Amino acid sequence: AKPTVAASVADRSRAAELARELDEHAYRYYVLDSPTVSDAEYDRLMRELTAIEERHPDLRTPDSPTQKVAGSYSTLFTPVEHLERLLSLDNVFDDDEFHLWAARAARETEVDGWLCELKIDGLAVDLVYADGRLVRAATRGDGRTGEDITPNIRTLASVPTRLRGAGVPELLEVRGEVFFPTEKFAELNASLVAGGGKPFANPRNAAAGSLRQKDPRVTATRPLDIIVHGLGAQRGFDAPSQSAAYARFAEFGLPVSTHFEVLASVADVLAFIHRWGRGRHDVEHEIDGVVVKVDAFALQRRLGSTSKAPRWAVAFKYPPEEVTTKLRDIRVNV
Ligand code: NAD
Repeated sequence: AKPTVAASVADRSRAAELARELDEHAYRYYVLDSPTVSDAEYDRLMRELTAIEERHPDLRTPDSPTQKVAGSYSTLFTPVEHLERLLSLDNVFDDDEFHLWAARAARETEVDGWLCELKIDGLAVDLVYADGRLVRAATRGDGRTGEDITPNIRTLASVPTRLRGAGVPELLEVRGEVFFPTEKFAELNASLVAGGGKPFANPRNAAAGSLRQKDPRVTATRPLDIIVHGLGAQRGFDAPSQSAAYARFAEFGLPVSTHFEVLASVADVLAFIHRWGRGRHDVEHEIDGVVVKVDAFALQRRLGSTSKAPRWAVAFKYPPEEVTTKLRDIRVNV
């Protein structure tokens, strides 16, 4: 039904309020590493804004939080332009929404393999290798510009400073997720509290707060790890699919996940999603869902991206496990 004038006025002011709130939460989450609402609450606000914009498409301006990659960069670090934009992911929250997403992707192109992998709850980073040498590492920032964290990334034992093996490309930009191993999280908080410091709210914030340290020697004391899950700019890198790229990354010595599968049917994809939903604590890092990607690069290119997210991938988000509305009362570390 067409919105009435009164409903429309209410919607418009609510949309403006939601946009303000979402931008503020993104700033606290990405720049200060100190969120005041749970991720589920943030997602709920985003869905409310999306629903209003569906009723009033004129409110869907390019600067709306629904249309841009959330995040920013702090003046603590040197800003760097990414070679290619780092995007976010669209979300689905149940089987019906996933079926709709998969049907839309499959309508555009013949999908012959869905790559399913765990959605690591960490922070996105971008690594650039030139002639096999790590020359730059940056946070996602707003997707175009991130923070230069090269010295901090160099402290992670699993990040190779030189790629190994045959056929190392002239240029390789990879994306990954830095995470704080779950079993070491309680230990870190205990030592921070013992030293008179503030504990982190969760492992994701511990990863972000530990990596985004002005002094990389502090980062070096934290047990951070990384998994690489994406390809950006490249010269001389040849792989027909996401899964083939992961195999090449592993040969180069880059850390890739062992928990991914390429599946042919949507039913198998949903079985993977629910199996990992039950086993989400059997992994060394926190996961907040499963990411499903169209495996073939040619099909990814055909599907393309919006201003915010690829059309060839989606995140199936698991329901929140704990009530984190009390976050506001917890003093979290930055
Ligand atoms: P997102 O976290 O839903 O998904 C996109 C990100 O997932 C990518 O940038 C990528 O780095 C990461 N990712 C993890 N595993 C991956 C894999 N296997 N393959 C591909 N990508 C993978 O979206 P977002 O834009 O990064 O952030 C939005 C989310 O962040 C919200 O849904 C919420 O959970 C959280 N958030 C929370 C607050 C808060 O105040 N609590 C504020 C802002 C954002």
